[in-house]
Formats: sequence, C-alpha cells, structure tokens
Amino acid sequence: TQGEELITVSGLSAGYGTVPVIRSVDFTVHTGEIFAVVGGNGAGKTTLLSTISGLLHPTSGSVRLAGTDITGWSPERIVAHGLVHIPEGRRLFTGLTVAEHLRLGLWNVPNRRKVERERTDRVVDLFPVLGERMDAYAEVLSGGEQQMLAIGQALMREPRVLLLDEPSIGLAPVIIQRVFAVVDRLREQNLTVILVEQRVNQALALADRGLVMRHGRIEVVGTAAELAEDPVLRAAYLGAA
Ligand code: ATP
Repeated sequence: TQGEELITVSGLSAGYGTVPVIRSVDFTVHTGEIFAVVGGNGAGKTTLLSTISGLLHPTSGSVRLAGTDITGWSPERIVAHGLVHIPEGRRLFTGLTVAEHLRLGLWNVPNRRKVERERTDRVVDLFPVLGERMDAYAEVLSGGEQQMLAIGQALMREPRVLLLDEPSIGLAPVIIQRVFAVVDRLREQNLTVILVEQRVNQALALADRGLVMRHGRIEVVGTAAELAEDPVLRAAYLGAA
C-alpha cells in the first residue's frame, strides 16, 4: 500500500575485508517513493546498495523488506522477495538480444511462460524503443537503450523495489531526461525506487525523499525539498550540477 514502510535499514555497517565503509546507517523508504541517495565519490553509496541487495554482508545492523528481516539472505533470495538491484554500468550480455535479456529477467519466476507475453508488452509500453529492437544484440544498442533494457529486464520480475545505481552515467543530457521520465512513471505504478545519482539536482527534482552520504555515514535524511535547501549539500554538490 502507498506510504507504508517498505524498507527499514537499521544500524547498518559494511565494508570490504576489514575495511569499514558504511557505518551505522539508518533510514526508511516507503512504498511508492523515489528515494535518492547522493554524496561525493567514494561516500559509500554503491556499498550501501550492495549491502541492501545481499551482494555484501553487513558487519552489523539489519535490513527489513516489507516487515521481513532479509539481513544475510543471498542475493537470489532477496531478488525472489521482490528487490532487484541494477548495478552501475548496466551489465548486459554480449551476444544476447533484447528479447533474450527480457526473458532472462524472468529467471526463476514461477509460471514464467504464462506471464512472459504480458510483461514484455508492459515493458515495451514503457520503452517503445525496446519493442523496435527486440532482435538487436545488447552491444549494438546506444547507452540510453542499454540503460532502458537493464531497467526493462528488472521490471520483467515486477519487483516491489528497484535499486538503481547511477543510471545517468555516460548518457547525453537529453537521454538522461528520458531515463528519469521513465523512473517518474514507475512511481505511478507504485514501484519503490532507491536511486543513487551524481546528478544531484535532477535526482532531487525527481525524488520524494532521500539522504546525503559522506564518508560512509548519513549526513542528512529528509524530503527532497529539505535536501535541496540543506546548506552543506548546496555548498558541496548543487553548485556543480
Ligand atoms: P562512486 O560514486 O565513486 O561509485 P560511492 O559513493 O558509490 O562512490 P563506493 O563505491 O561505495 O562509493 O565506495 C566506498 C569506498 O569503498 C571507497 O573508498 C572505495 O574505494 C571502497 N570500495 C569500493 N568497492 C570496493 C571493493 N570491491 N573492495 C575494496 N574497497 C572498495
């Protein structure tokens, strides 16, 4: 339901080997929100996403998804529970077509043959360009089309939550607008999105709420309007966007 607490991150710490990166992170994301995670290079944004999606194990703290404690679950089990992480750089497969990528998105989904047609139609409705390029190999798509395919593949699962890491990276401004417009439409479908972005102005224009990370800690958490007014954030990032 709209507005319910969907993700609850409590006292979350994680790192690589013995090197701590994120420290005692606390925040909640509600159903249907677009939640922006911003901060400078190396602040720990990607590490935070990886810890939520099970790619990294936290050293302490917990992650709850729709009331279920998913801390320590495998990434596969978390995906099956409705949380899909689209890493930075899109990670598509050379030699697989658009259609094959979309089908792959249904990996491990019960009754996938039955739902394939309808879900493909829904993705194509959102990204008509994918419909025109069903038989094209991923590597010949433009950067924007590849990002749309990565999102489309995730949507084939009909996830509850999408973790989106830097979808704008390497894209021309007009294409970035298009990708962001799609994220905006996902909100209308009550999907919940955690969006890591370097494009702070654009991310905050799109987001409902969000947080600013610095050196692995949360500096501010609040509504997008509150973040946009935050003096530290303005001084550090908004000038440059
Ligand atoms: P960026 O926008 O530059 O990706 P970020 O905020 O996403 O930054 P992270 O990628 O989470 O930051 O990196 C946080 C810290 O963790 C950095 O100091 C980075 O060097 C370190 N780090 C990231 N990945 C690894 C890894 N696989 N092994 C060891 N250290 C890592």
